Amino acid sequence: MPRTLVTGGAGFLGSHLCEYLLRKDHEVVCMDNLITGSKDNIADIKSDKFQFVEHNVSEFINVKGALDYVLHFASPASPMDYLDFPIQTLKVGALGTHNALGLAKTKGAVFFLASSAEVYGDPLIHPQPEKYWGNVNPIGPRGVYDEAKRFAEAITMAYHRTHRLDTKISRIFNTYGPRMRINDGRAIPNFLRQALTGKDVTIYGEGSQTRSFCYISDLIEGIYRLLVSDQNAPVNLGSPDEMTVKEMADKILQATNSASRIAHTAAVEDDPKIRQPDITRAKKYLNWEPVVGLDKGLRATLKYFKEQLRT
Ligand code: UDP
Repeated sequence: MPRTLVTGGAGFLGSHLCEYLLRKDHEVVCMDNLITGSKDNIADIKSDKFQFVEHNVSEFINVKGALDYVLHFASPASPMDYLDFPIQTLKVGALGTHNALGLAKTKGAVFFLASSAEVYGDPLIHPQPEKYWGNVNPIGPRGVYDEAKRFAEAITMAYHRTHRLDTKISRIFNTYGPRMRINDGRAIPNFLRQALTGKDVTIYGEGSQTRSFCYISDLIEGIYRLLVSDQNAPVNLGSPDEMTVKEMADKILQATNSASRIAHTAAVEDDPKIRQPDITRAKKYLNWEPVVGLDKGLRATLKYFKEQLRT
């Protein structure tokens, strides 16, 4: 039975990942400092093959026993969070990644990095293939996250080249689904919360900026396929189904049958104007592409948000 560490395991992606790995018969050590993650996300995991450790991975990581895989998912990930925790975001991308790599090296484990579409910044190439180097403002408000992820990729490749560590890098595009926090601050949770509570749906700027939203189960399947693949180069994981933020807001108003109105607020600094992954590599090497349509994914997410608002 493989033994696996998931940093950020109590977060949105991390908790779904822990559950998936348990289903694949991994023994899972879930590590999180709970600054944006929550024990509620892992409360339903009853397996005796699962262990939670509260720890900030920007500090030295100590795990007793063998490890076959180290999956580094710890980081604030919502723009609102990395504006609230800019230094923690930089530290977990830099020091946290270094610690997680060092641990993987000591244990002889495969290392997996949760990188981000943010490495492409406000892209000048569309859709974004992995060979694109990006257009990032290092000193802007999003720079703390973008540069942390870019550093994380650089040090991951350095460990791969220097120490021959078996490393994988996923560039994760916008993902949604149950366990996003009600007050997460990202577009889908904001729009759902606002629509369900009769508040104005806030669109930052014109709403002509685009995103491509991937449902959580599709993303997790892609992550697992990359983990067990022989791909050491970065692979984009996300949905190519691109839409404007305004279209998403309308879709959510419709799905919730809400009487909320749309309110345009000031545009956000350095907000990427367009984003869509080129998933040619994922299709070719992982035989992966998203299969859950937006309507189905939104229904499941809406159900979760309704439950959360009730409690
Ligand atoms: N957005 C918005 N209203 C909100 C939250 C987000 O118009 O209440 C926009 C945001 O400016 C961005 C897009 O929705 O253009 C996606 O933002 P999100 O925070 O979900 O993630 P990002 O892709 O920017 O990391």
